[in-house]
Amino acid sequence: MAIERTLSIIKPDAVAKNVIGQIYSRFEGAGLKIVAARMTQLSRAEAEGFYAVHSARPFFKDLVDFMISGPVIIQVLEGENAILKHRDLMGATDPKKADKGTIRADFADSIDANAVHGSDAEETAKVEIAYYFPALNVYSR
Ligand code: UDP
Repeated sequence: MAIERTLSIIKPDAVAKNVIGQIYSRFEGAGLKIVAARMTQLSRAEAEGFYAVHSARPFFKDLVDFMISGPVIIQVLEGENAILKHRDLMGATDPKKADKGTIRADFADSIDANAVHGSDAEETAKVEIAYYFPALNVYSR
């Protein structure tokens, strides 16, 4: 299986709930290594740019408002099959539909405030990692 990298964000709701460590434990427990990480308060322009693919969707403004409502933790995860593994750990977009034991089932309140973001494919992972981390700040482990 391929070693992949994926972009992960712990969203403002989960940071506010003080579950950063619990979420990191799940990544590490699944064999994913944190190879880059930073806490930041996104600007509106940064959040709009990141979610540009959703700019025509009715929830876009609320999504951007939510993503800039407090600090986030952004990380690059590395490991075998990292993209899908991370998506499996996250659970479905709507926490009400997320499998038991997933991050969203356990920590998210709604489809808007759903605790985490994860890249959904190899190409988006590349683009999203480059959006937040210059290559120099990613540490192969
Ligand atoms: N979102 C929302 N309302 C919706 C659908 C999506 O607020 O009806 C938000 C939600 O925060 C989601 C993000 O938009 O995580 C991106 O949507 P996507 O369908 O890509 O879901 P994800 O890949 O995050 O599971």
